Amino acid sequence: GEFYEWRDAPDAEFAVVGDPIAHSWSPRLFQAAFSESALPCRYVAIRVPRGELAGALEHLSAGGYRGVNVTVPLKEEAYALTDSIDALGAVNTVRLPGLQSTSTDGPGLVAALRQLGSGPKLLLLGTGGTARSVLTALLEGGFSVSLWNRTMPRAAQLVSDLDVMVPVLDMASASGFDTVINATSATLDGLSLPVEWSGVGLAMDLMYGSVPSPFMLAAKEAGWTAVDGREMLVQQAALSYQFWFENSPDIDAMRGALP
Ligand code: NDP
Repeated sequence: GEFYEWRDAPDAEFAVVGDPIAHSWSPRLFQAAFSESALPCRYVAIRVPRGELAGALEHLSAGGYRGVNVTVPLKEEAYALTDSIDALGAVNTVRLPGLQSTSTDGPGLVAALRQLGSGPKLLLLGTGGTARSVLTALLEGGFSVSLWNRTMPRAAQLVSDLDVMVPVLDMASASGFDTVINATSATLDGLSLPVEWSGVGLAMDLMYGSVPSPFMLAAKEAGWTAVDGREMLVQQAALSYQFWFENSPDIDAMRGALP
């Protein structure tokens, strides 16, 4: 998709920033919500390389921007630069010019799991920034979570960092779980994960795209229902919208804007 470099940011009110950023579906989601509510706002994608977020936020703020979504690899940098209402170490939503921020990834995933009818027993794969930022919200949302990571000590480290009661598995066996969530970046590299699929349930890749990921294909092959991260994308975007406007967007209009 179309995107701008931050020094050449156009006249607009909202943006998603990250690097790479061309793949982001956030502009079409928000543009759909704005037109549904007849809000005269423009939302664009802006490339901001790692280490340049402070300058970019100042520039966008001076240019009249009212809010930004922050994605890979800037969520931790954004947390350090802004005034977060929660303490997860990563944020994805910033209000300008005041720099108040929050992370809507965790609550967005919880809302997506409810929307998709997930049962309570979750196997979460990965310990990267996303897994870290959603784990607490999943537990607070009443889900029971087990954690698996390719590099196992990182899973134990995450559990101890967050001080949560979460079993760490040495094998990713889907047996007994209602939902298996892929919060790794394996899909970005076109790779699957060593999940032992048995029984039936919901397999959710947090990555979204126009074609099913290798993880989704393997799950489907084993008889599981496979979905990508678009419902989480919609739900976290709706929560960002609420953070900025203090009212809810039309979620169906947002869903309808996706390919
Ligand atoms: P990170 O780069 O931080 O993830 C690293 C994690 O992926 C580690 O646990 C790492 O394991 C694991 N990993 C990477 N490659 C492999 C592999 N080949 N096999 C097994 N494990 C692997 O990524 P993020 O946490 O930032 O993002 C994760 C995904 O979530 C992304 O695809 C992102 O697009 C998506 N996302 C979607 C959102 C949505 O709204 N739908 C919102 C936020 C994120 P190890 O420790 O062993 O290296």
